[in-house]
Amino acid sequence: MESRRLMQKLNWRRIVLKVGSALIAPDQDGCRSRYILTIAQFIVRCRARGIEVILVSSGSVAAGSHLFPSDQPRSVVLKKAMAAAGQTEMIAMWDRFFDFPSAQLLLTHGDLRDRERYQSIRETVFTLLEHGVLPIINENDAVTTDDLKVGDNDNLSAMVAAAADADALLIFSDVDGLYDKNPNLHDDAVLLPEIKSIDESIYAMAGCATSSVGTGGMKTKIEAAEKATSHGIATYIINGFKEETFNRLLAGDNPGTIFSPYEKPMQDSVHWMTHTANEQGEVVVDGSFDESIEGETGIIRGDEIVEVHGEFAIGDTILVRSEDGTRLAKATANYSSCLLNFIADNEQSEFSEKMQDSIGPVISEKDIALLEKS
Ligand code: GLU
Repeated sequence: MESRRLMQKLNWRRIVLKVGSALIAPDQDGCRSRYILTIAQFIVRCRARGIEVILVSSGSVAAGSHLFPSDQPRSVVLKKAMAAAGQTEMIAMWDRFFDFPSAQLLLTHGDLRDRERYQSIRETVFTLLEHGVLPIINENDAVTTDDLKVGDNDNLSAMVAAAADADALLIFSDVDGLYDKNPNLHDDAVLLPEIKSIDESIYAMAGCATSSVGTGGMKTKIEAAEKATSHGIATYIINGFKEETFNRLLAGDNPGTIFSPYEKPMQDSVHWMTHTANEQGEVVVDGSFDESIEGETGIIRGDEIVEVHGEFAIGDTILVRSEDGTRLAKATANYSSCLLNFIADNEQSEFSEKMQDSIGPVISEKDIALLEKS
C-alpha cells in the first residue's frame, strides 16, 4: 500500500536533482566517475520516461582544488579560483556522459532575489527543457560576496525547483535520509520514511536546535525541504552513494525520506517573496492596512506608514508589519527608505503630497504577498 502510494507520487513531469561535492570529487582530487556514472544513468532513464530533469551540481571547489598548491591556506579568494577552475572540469565530466546537450547556468542569490532576473532564469530553463537540453546549475562561487550568495546548494536547489515549477526535488546525500537521532552516535536510530510537516522537532532531529542528536549536514536539507514543499514540491533525501537507490526510485519505492508537499501550496509570487527574496527593510503600517488590502485599491499609501526601518531602494523587497509587530506582508517598495523618511518628516508639506501624487502608492497591489499572520 505504502509503496503503491509513493509510486503514484512518482508521476513526475519535471524534477530537480541535487548532487553534492562528495559524489563528484570523493577523493578531493579532481572529478571521479565512481558515483556520478550511476546518477548520469538515472538522468538518462528519467528522460527516457519523458521526465524533464534539471541538475544542481556542487563540486566545483572540490574538483578544482587539486590544481592549486595544497600547502596554502584555503582563503576565500583561493576557493573562488578553485571553483572557477573546477567548474569547467565538472561540466566537462557531466557532458561526457550524455549524448544529448547540456547547458551551464551559474547563479547567485543576487540573481534569484531580483524579480526580473528570476523571471529571466525561469524563461531560460524552460527554453532549455523544451529543446531537450539538460540544465546544469551551480552557484557562481567565483563572483559571490557574503551579501549575494545562497551559500549552499541544498537551498539553491529548492529555489531552482520552485522557479522551475518542479514536481519533485531529489537531494542525494551520503546518508539514507533523516533519522530520529544521529545514526553515527546511536545504534537504535530509526530512518523516518515520511515527514508530513516540518516544524522545530524536525530541525531538532537534524541537529539544528539545542540538541545533542544531530545528524550533521542535515540543516540545509531540511531548509530546502521546507522551501520546496511549501511550493507543492515533494522533496526526497536519499543516499546517492548506493546504486540500489536509483532502481528503487524508478520502481516507485521510497529509498530514503520523503517530505510531503503542502496540500495548499503558496502562490508563486508569495513563495518567491517568502523564500527567495530577502527583505531589505521594513515598514510599520497603521490599522487602515487591512481595509486598503481588502478594498478596491489594494495599495499602501505613504500616510498609512507609521515607521520605516532599514535602508532600501526602489524595487527592493520589504516586510510590512502592523504596530503590534505582526508580519503582514512582503512587498516590493516603490519608494526608497530615504524618500519615505522624508515624507514622514514633512507629512503636511505640499511638496510631499505632490511627490506622492506623481509617484503613486508606496506598495502596489500586484507587488504584495500577504503572509500568514505570525
Ligand atoms: N557551490 C559549491 C561548489 O560547487 C558547493 C556548495 C555546496 O556544496 O552546497 O563547490
